[in-house]
Amino acid sequence: MRRPTAAALLPALALLLAPLLALTGCGKSGTPPVKGPQPGALPAYRVRSGEPVTGSATLDAARARGHLVVGVKEDQPYLGQKDPASGEYSGFDIEIARMVAADLGFPPDRIEFRTIASANRETALQNGQVDYYVGTYTINDNRKKLVGFAGPYFVAGQALLVRRNDREINGPQDLDGRKVCSAAGSTPYQRIQKDYPKARLIGYDTYSACVDNLISGQVDAVTTDNAILQGYAAKAPDELRIAGQPFSTEPYGVGTPKNDSALRLAVDDALARHEENGDWRAAYDATLGLSGVPAPEPPPIDRY
Ligand code: GLU
Repeated sequence: MRRPTAAALLPALALLLAPLLALTGCGKSGTPPVKGPQPGALPAYRVRSGEPVTGSATLDAARARGHLVVGVKEDQPYLGQKDPASGEYSGFDIEIARMVAADLGFPPDRIEFRTIASANRETALQNGQVDYYVGTYTINDNRKKLVGFAGPYFVAGQALLVRRNDREINGPQDLDGRKVCSAAGSTPYQRIQKDYPKARLIGYDTYSACVDNLISGQVDAVTTDNAILQGYAAKAPDELRIAGQPFSTEPYGVGTPKNDSALRLAVDDALARHEENGDWRAAYDATLGLSGVPAPEPPPIDRY
């Protein structure tokens, strides 16, 4: 297991110290409260009893195993983030995973989250490493040849993150000759490669590695979906800013094993139900909404 870095432990430390500081009246006045998903504010999803979905080989195997295995991200603030101290996952994608699980008959304590990087999602679904995947996963035709997609449950757009004091990068047209970092295997990485070939593109496993390199000056920009970048910017507003406007459409789907259409359609039904009953909105407000962007309307689900 990786040891958490000191930086990763800081938010936990701040949370521990906050009440102490409040009591003693210390701390900078006007310091904003530590932001993060508040577990109490999260909806609890009604777990359907029995075996609510039949005909899915993936779910049969999960039931035999006793729990679901769901692929997610662990370093995307407000979307999919793992607390290094407790090992708990939180964020909008994690809530989507939980509400879907509840409809499939699995309570939260029967979900095992497994971190899978952007480049490894299709393989993880193809070889049964995960039962489904919820992690800023753009639906597109290339990927549909390899996996199934339920949803979309959210629409993001590719954007750029730069250092706060950078005045030169204001859109992808300014990337010529500049070092821009993205996650290997992601749609933003592929778009820069294809549409902005003069950018000096660097691929890492994760966006958090890119952001560390942006802050330390090793790269000039990080590119991926605005929903992801907003989280990093909100966590380090003195150091980072989003440059310009989104320049793509990234509909997020729940990835499923390609041949299991019973599971894919059951996930579509689950998403529709939770959008209808208010859970989707409550989950957004308690997670991604904390990065400062109010809840949009959920996009129409594309059942195929
Ligand atoms: N939504 C994009 C993708 O699926 C970028 C985010 C990510 O890498 O998860 O490739």
